[in-house]
Amino acid sequence: MSAKIIDGKKISEEIKNEIKAEVAELAAKTGKTPCLAVVLVGADAASLIYVGSKKKACEELGLRSVSHELPAETTEEELLSLIDRLNDDASVNGILVQMPVPAHIDESKILLRVSPVKDVDGFHPYNAGLLSIGKSVLKPGTAWGIIELLKRSGIEIAGKNCAVVGRSNIVGKPTALLLLAENGTVTVCHSKTQNLAEITKSADILVSVVGKKHFITQDMVKEGAAVVDVGIHRVEGSKKIYGDVADVSEKAGWVTPVPGGVGPMTIVCLLVNTLRAACMQAKLPPPAV
Ligand code: NAP
Repeated sequence: MSAKIIDGKKISEEIKNEIKAEVAELAAKTGKTPCLAVVLVGADAASLIYVGSKKKACEELGLRSVSHELPAETTEEELLSLIDRLNDDASVNGILVQMPVPAHIDESKILLRVSPVKDVDGFHPYNAGLLSIGKSVLKPGTAWGIIELLKRSGIEIAGKNCAVVGRSNIVGKPTALLLLAENGTVTVCHSKTQNLAEITKSADILVSVVGKKHFITQDMVKEGAAVVDVGIHRVEGSKKIYGDVADVSEKAGWVTPVPGGVGPMTIVCLLVNTLRAACMQAKLPPPAV
């Protein structure tokens, strides 16, 4: 068997077109354009690139973005008061504070300060709580992206054995909760899990969010399984990127490539969440996308 490729680039382009249409429809109905505020503290090179691509994606799809690029010595109080102003600003629908922030700023205080209705990362405990009861609107991007990749590739989740390896608050846990909400039978694995390979070998859907190059090998995969690789490993001095999953294409039914699988979905979700936030704030039903 040779696994089918789940093409994250293609699927993310499809979703971008849907967002574009929804943004135009919202503007026609309300005269308003969803607006994302991006806050960056310090000039970390990778963060500047991420922030630049988020602003560019907004422009591409007809969303507005405003950016606040603050010096690295900005105090926690100053950052919190900017967030308060953005929370109160009715023209801003979504707020994204680019992480990591400098070490003198407490990340958890920032996360708690962003209004839950503008929390386009979906990491606020209020939104995490909604996620755990199956009622979330603003979902964490990578986890949402994984579900969309599976659904849009025609992979059934309901009733299937799903194994998520990794339990981080930003990807592993939300992915497990979203798979559960889709009626998957979910096992969450972590560094203390015993007999990991036995669990992964019984999974129809295997998601790896570990952060170790080629951690999942062919002998850990069930014949015909859908294998989603979230890991990103950059090699110093090279542009090559590796995932958590080794070559499993002779055993799996579907695989997500790295790069070009889960990665392109994360930014798209940020835009979906901005659109969702704008609809929620305008008391309109959530968009179809
Ligand atoms: P993280 O917070 O470090 O979590 C890693 C998880 O892997 C932990 O739950 C850990 O278990 C588990 N783990 C470590 N060794 C293990 C082992 N031997 N067996 C089973 N589980 C093990 O990492 P993260 O933030 O979730 O990110 C994981 C990877 O995804 C990274 O490569 C990151 O770059 C990538 N990522 C990609 C995207 C994307 O858009 N594609 C987005 C976010 C993250 P414990 O909890 O027991 O320590």
